[in-house]
Amino acid sequence: MTRCLDCGSERIADQCPSCGLTSAAAEVMFRRRLLKRTAVFLLGSLAFPYLSQIYPPLELDLMLVFFGLIFFVALAIAVVLERRGRNRQDLEALKRLYSGFIPLPWILSATLLVNGTLDAKQNVTYHPTTVDSRYNMPGIVRGTRRLFVHSWREGQRIERLAVNSDDFDRFHSGDAVFVGVKPGALGIPWYFGVYRR
Ligand SMILES: [Zn+2]
Repeated sequence: MTRCLDCGSERIADQCPSCGLTSAAAEVMFRRRLLKRTAVFLLGSLAFPYLSQIYPPLELDLMLVFFGLIFFVALAIAVVLERRGRNRQDLEALKRLYSGFIPLPWILSATLLVNGTLDAKQNVTYHPTTVDSRYNMPGIVRGTRRLFVHSWREGQRIERLAVNSDDFDRFHSGDAVFVGVKPGALGIPWYFGVYRR
């Protein structure tokens, strides 16, 4: 049984009884929609790393791994969809799965944005600690800079702070610092700043 690529109804003839598109027209419509959805997904995928630099959660690296996983699975689905569409194969289930992925980077971005912007101004907690080491991976856009400090949280040895380039250059291992942390409006603690003590 074949289904219309555009609306998903069963088709017996070349023209879909439901939306009236021929199989060639349905393929064009399907491709156009796939491109649009992928653009929406990619835009959200740019917003998330950007916001994660402004309101970096303490568990940023864990979130980035999760985000990376979503990103590559979604793109793999898009590639398979494109190929199946070209071969006019059934892709209803995969289409539905893909639409589930489209809003994910936007949901993650909105979570960071709300968590950071709606956080009350005065409630920074300053934790005294020392710098353990630093890590710098030059990247195409902004790179990844981490200041590793000894953790103040129980059961955690080290905190990996997503610092900006100024703070990264300012501190070295052994420095005594205060780390400012905000609780987050959604309960996701995020790194606010690092200061010399
Ligand atoms: Zn149709």
